[in-house]
Amino acid sequence: MQAGLLDTHHNAVSTRRSPAWVVTGLLVAFYLLLYFGKEDYNATDAAVRYARDPLNLMLVKLGWKLNDNGSLWVFNKWYLYAGLYTLGMAVGGYFMLRKHGNSTYHRYRTYSLVAVQAVLGLMLPLVLDFLGRPAWYFSYFFPLKYDLFFPYNMDHMQPTVMAWFIVMTFVGLPLLVYFKGKRVYCSWICGCGGLAETFGDPWRHLSSKSPRAWRIEQVSIHSVLFAAFAMLGLVIGDGLAPEGHAIHNFANSYKGMYSLAIGSIFSGVLGTGLYPVGGTRVWCRFGCPMAAMLGLVQKFGRFRIAVKKDMCISCGNCSTYCEMGIDVRSYAMRNQDIKRASCVGCGMCAHVCPRGVLQLVAKRDAGPGQHTQEWTVDL
Ligand code: SF4
Ligand code: SF4
Ligand code: SF4
Repeated sequence: MQAGLLDTHHNAVSTRRSPAWVVTGLLVAFYLLLYFGKEDYNATDAAVRYARDPLNLMLVKLGWKLNDNGSLWVFNKWYLYAGLYTLGMAVGGYFMLRKHGNSTYHRYRTYSLVAVQAVLGLMLPLVLDFLGRPAWYFSYFFPLKYDLFFPYNMDHMQPTVMAWFIVMTFVGLPLLVYFKGKRVYCSWICGCGGLAETFGDPWRHLSSKSPRAWRIEQVSIHSVLFAAFAMLGLVIGDGLAPEGHAIHNFANSYKGMYSLAIGSIFSGVLGTGLYPVGGTRVWCRFGCPMAAMLGLVQKFGRFRIAVKKDMCISCGNCSTYCEMGIDVRSYAMRNQDIKRASCVGCGMCAHVCPRGVLQLVAKRDAGPGQHTQEWTVDL
């Protein structure tokens, strides 16, 4: 057992006691306000136009407005949110590494998650916006970024940017996942996973490991994947259909429903709001269509968690700390390598194993008499 892990079980906010419900209430309220609170876009535009000096303009772009009397007002909620998000990841990452930083794997992937968020999730969009260019988030791809191919995005997309998103969505990421596993994206790059791994670390053990939860997960996540690709089909059909065709209205209603139900409520309000009572990967596990898509690739790819034979003492640490609700112990007890679509390759199961039973590997299946090539990860 790594130092500091047992704290988790004695901390009221990490064990579904009253403080945890209070934090959940606060997070849900925050996200409701964020997604459904009113924002005066005209006022934002006016503030950008009339910002009289670089400091004032920069503050407006950062989500604040400097009034004549020197007071600051929250202005653009999405930039403010991006700033808070990055701060939450940086602070959460610091505390996460105080517990798990004795592992090279956790150190590097935490640095990577925070750096990607700070550079590609916060600073680059701000700079692009500041320069009057469309503010793309280059680390988010379809279907996680469900509106990437909506007309209001495509109309402003330069060919090179469009090529980046299309190639990464349909070729680059699937190939990386095939060879290295979903961890490449879900534990090293994705901002949603990044918040779970850092800010959410005190709650990672709360994911249900029951077979029932696994069955629900399989149905729900693939349903969202289907819904996302149905929407892509509608967007394409909408673009090709002649004016006045019935598909236009249907596509618009469908996009609105998906944005509300999946984009705002599921991924935001519930996905993060339920951290303290449902674990940190509620969205990743039950809702993320990207997880479903990449999970199908991972199932056929090389990544797996190798189990050393007859070493497991059934202590259960690995299952307890699996944020994706995988009952790792049951595989280890059967001496069976773990190849699950949902595994995000966080490496925590291997990290907390007192016997060194588990190892994350990207390994080609060997035929009879063939050499097996193996890439191990330092844990
Ligand atoms: S499961 Fe989805 S939201 Fe979660 S880390 Fe992976 S891509 Fe991001
Ligand atoms: S099985 Fe291990 S590596 Fe995979 S998600 Fe669970 S704890 Fe992380
Ligand atoms: S694999 Fe390791 S952590 Fe998991 S139950 Fe066995 S000994 Fe414990």
